[in-house]
Amino acid sequence: MGAPDYTIAAPFETPSFSLPKRITEHDIDRTRVSEKAVAVIEKLRAAGFDAYLVGGCVRDLLLGKSPKDFDVATDATPEHVRKVFPRVRLVGRRFRIVHVRMGREIIEVSTFRRAVSEADQEPHLSDDGMILRDNLYGTIDQDAFRRDFTVNALYYDPNAHVVLDYCDGMKDIASGTLRLIGEPKIRFQEDPVRILRAIRFAAKLDLKLHPDTEAAIAPMCEMLNAIPAARLFDEFIKLFLTGHGERAFELLCDHDLVEILFPLPPHGESLAKLALASTDQRLKENKPVTPGFLIAAFLWQEYLDCLEPAATTATDHGDDPANTAIAAQRSTIAIPRRHGWFARDVWHLQPLLARRTSRNVARVLAHRRFRAAYDFLMIRCATGDAPEELGEWWTNAQTQNTDALLRELPSGRPRRRRRRRGGNRRNRAAPGNLNTANGGPSGPREVVQP
Ligand code: ATP
Ligand code: MG
Repeated sequence: MGAPDYTIAAPFETPSFSLPKRITEHDIDRTRVSEKAVAVIEKLRAAGFDAYLVGGCVRDLLLGKSPKDFDVATDATPEHVRKVFPRVRLVGRRFRIVHVRMGREIIEVSTFRRAVSEADQEPHLSDDGMILRDNLYGTIDQDAFRRDFTVNALYYDPNAHVVLDYCDGMKDIASGTLRLIGEPKIRFQEDPVRILRAIRFAAKLDLKLHPDTEAAIAPMCEMLNAIPAARLFDEFIKLFLTGHGERAFELLCDHDLVEILFPLPPHGESLAKLALASTDQRLKENKPVTPGFLIAAFLWQEYLDCLEPAATTATDHGDDPANTAIAAQRSTIAIPRRHGWFARDVWHLQPLLARRTSRNVARVLAHRRFRAAYDFLMIRCATGDAPEELGEWWTNAQTQNTDALLRELPSGRPRRRRRRRGGNRRNRAAPGNLNTANGGPSGPREVVQP
């Protein structure tokens, strides 16, 4: 990766008023549009305001998908919206967005905004060109141009069944292209999270990045380091826990972005990919998933590295290497504690899974994180990080008599482990027992998270 190009460019200026293309021929299936969202639009219009569906929902409808939620953009201010609807909640600190509750659905209503500009009195850009505040009301065309991608800047009028296109988004929908609006470097500079959004939309919607958008990723990606860790955790969830994590990860690898997010060495990539494939599959089957499992996979190598020195120095009072690995990651991605604990439990169980004594086997099977630890072990086996035989043994141990299975082990009969005098519990679970030897890579298999 070359040195980052931090040239400060002028903020992206909205072209002076432009008329939209009014598209009447399009593929939106009106039956996929939320009636509640239509009702919100109708009510705003009846009160004299302009209102449209906008953003991800219009994009997804045009691509023949069912949107997960519906956003409305309007010229009504939040105060106006509040007067029109009795049941609303104002959210967002700098830019107020209104959540209108309609039965069980929440429709997000936001006022048209415009891009920040150098001429604005209050400083809205940081010294390196990042948007600090994005809270200026604008007109609909200004609202279109301040959005990120052309396919995200389409407005749909459900009554007239017309799409308004200010930024040539329909052309990009037709060709399956994800293209930043405006000058790509400036748009990434304004908000580097757009780089991760580009990867996410490309993965989720199977769009190809426009060459100009793609070319701006490498020079601007180091700016992701300046993004608050809490926002990156939100983006982590959207990237990896919404059903297209494996593809998103591949694209991150293709663009050398993984290392900005995690300390993942290249040989850790196959484990991460299998964990993501398992998560995607579980989401498809409507099974629960947890960020903790992915964190265990992403930071596994880092944890092993942290174990090395700790193995010789750890005492019962010393730091847990698991905490060290997770704490270091938190400076980039704010992992909530409970997910960190989850990953730590999964790691701690790995050496215990390798120690097959009758007492230990019973203990491990009863552990509340056993399913996740087993799942993790299976992924390790599939990458050659643990012997396949160990994974198979634990698969059988869940349905067969474990004493009989223990007798079949080369060591013979079920061993009752004797407590070593002065033995240190923590050190017993440490690296020597990880059993990372051999096994040989094999194809992915079905794995089960808790
Ligand atoms: P998803 O289906 O993942 O919700 P989405 O496009 O609706 O996709 P949101 O994060 O919900 O994504 O944002 C809604 C809309 O707001 C986007 O479609 C885009 O027009 C605009 N937007 C969101 N984030 C940004 C950003 N960082 N910069 C510019 N515009 C943005
Ligand atoms: Mg959305």
